[in-house]
Amino acid sequence: MYDKNNVFAKILRGEIPCDKIYEDKFVLAFKDINPQTRVHVLLIPKGFYKDMNDFSDHGTKEEIAAFLNAIVKVVDILGIKNQGYRCINNNGNDGGQEVPHLHFHILGGQKVGKMVSKN
Ligand code: 5GP
Repeated sequence: MYDKNNVFAKILRGEIPCDKIYEDKFVLAFKDINPQTRVHVLLIPKGFYKDMNDFSDHGTKEEIAAFLNAIVKVVDILGIKNQGYRCINNNGNDGGQEVPHLHFHILGGQKVGKMVSKN
């Protein structure tokens, strides 16, 4: 079940502010409040989907295409399209997801480092 009180739902409803990078009919991208790299932006669908499983099961083809296409739009706006970047989706408990609204982390502006830590 989707928790309507999660922080990204509040951002989408305009109840709390965000530092917006890009927005269209289907997605919103904004700076992470606790950046892990020089560039750290979160991309979320405007639809209320808990995670990738929920999005895959219930998202429309248009929403899913718009979400994936938005990644390159955002990195282009951020000026890191050609130098490289990393997209991370923490999904569910083992994935370490903290906010239960689907989001991709877009990380870059520097070498991002190893893909996963061993602990
Ligand atoms: P997760 O661990 O769920 O993949 O990532 C959640 C991310 O949301 C974290 O990187 C965290 O810093 C970010 N975050 C949590 N609360 C807020 C907020 O109120 N505003 C913004 N911009 N980012 C947030």
